[in-house]
Amino acid sequence: MIMSAEIPSAPKQDIRKLDSTQLKEWLVAHNEQGFRAKQVYEWLWKKSATSFDEMSNLSLKTRELLAAHFEIKAIATATSQKSNDGTIKSAFKLHDAHLIEGVLIPSADRMTACVSSQVGCSLTCKFCATGYMDRQRNLDAAEMYDQVVAIDRQARENFGIPLSNIVYMGMGEPLLNYANVLESIEKITSPDGLGMAPKRITVSTAGIAKMIKKLGDDQVRFNLALSLHAANDEKRNQIMPINESNSLDNLAEALQYFYRQTNNRITFEYIVFDKFNDSLQDAKELWQFTKRVPAKVNIIEYNPIAEADFKNTDSHRLEQFAKFLEQRGVIVNVRRSRGKDIDAACGQLANREKAAY
Ligand code: SF4
Repeated sequence: MIMSAEIPSAPKQDIRKLDSTQLKEWLVAHNEQGFRAKQVYEWLWKKSATSFDEMSNLSLKTRELLAAHFEIKAIATATSQKSNDGTIKSAFKLHDAHLIEGVLIPSADRMTACVSSQVGCSLTCKFCATGYMDRQRNLDAAEMYDQVVAIDRQARENFGIPLSNIVYMGMGEPLLNYANVLESIEKITSPDGLGMAPKRITVSTAGIAKMIKKLGDDQVRFNLALSLHAANDEKRNQIMPINESNSLDNLAEALQYFYRQTNNRITFEYIVFDKFNDSLQDAKELWQFTKRVPAKVNIIEYNPIAEADFKNTDSHRLEQFAKFLEQRGVIVNVRRSRGKDIDAACGQLANREKAAY
């Protein structure tokens, strides 16, 4: 007698990996009318449906057909914490149980979402909690898109205002997940997605010269920020090992190329660490670096992490540092720390909830 082994059913495909043309082709090949693709696509992106049951303008038969072949790998909010200053940090659970973090930063004139682009990070910046985690994997476009949708919902529910800005400044190095990050921004800015203006989006990099040039070649319309934190190679090598293969000269050249291609001014992010990069000599080096490409400078307060010994500079030194630059015509914004009490501030994202899963 032949024992028939049970054949495992094929794993379902993630439907959001299909573009609208592929979706239409699939539906037509399964005896559905082509115009259904537009409806399904709208549910998937514009309406952020998390199940086929929600797609109320499709027949039950069509919904069952889709559910038999596909799944929607939506992210789920695992935990959310609200800071005394209104900042909300969320841990999002991915379909494979990894956790990432995203932050809503409310301020007087904007509602900003800070989103992650990778699970962990491979770049080991010494001041950053994420840098002490291994990189597990890249996020796909839908996982970044979903963070924006979830944080937009938080902004509306908690403050009655939609998101106005997005920064790719959470966990991970966005330019090492280039294609997915660009696809997510394409979806976020598309009228078929969230319809946000590219100028409201900033991608922040630790400095991958080759990929900065690629952004220029792709003539992107969003903003680019460089996490600079030291404007001399010796110091930068100490805190950001990526600088050893992407020196300040390489970065300046890549940024000049980016600027020529896109006409987009760069933002330099500069965290001021106590007695490391907060002297007037450091400010002078930063001023000289800003002369190499049209730029503005965000000076950011540091939030100590358990893994490293860096401290925030004192307010007097910070003021002197900013004044030095301003007196020389540099556009400077001093960014006070937000969400410190919930570890939601710059460099603090590291999934401390991880142990609970
Ligand atoms: S600062 Fe950014 S690039 Fe550096 S380790 Fe942290 S997440 Fe990675």
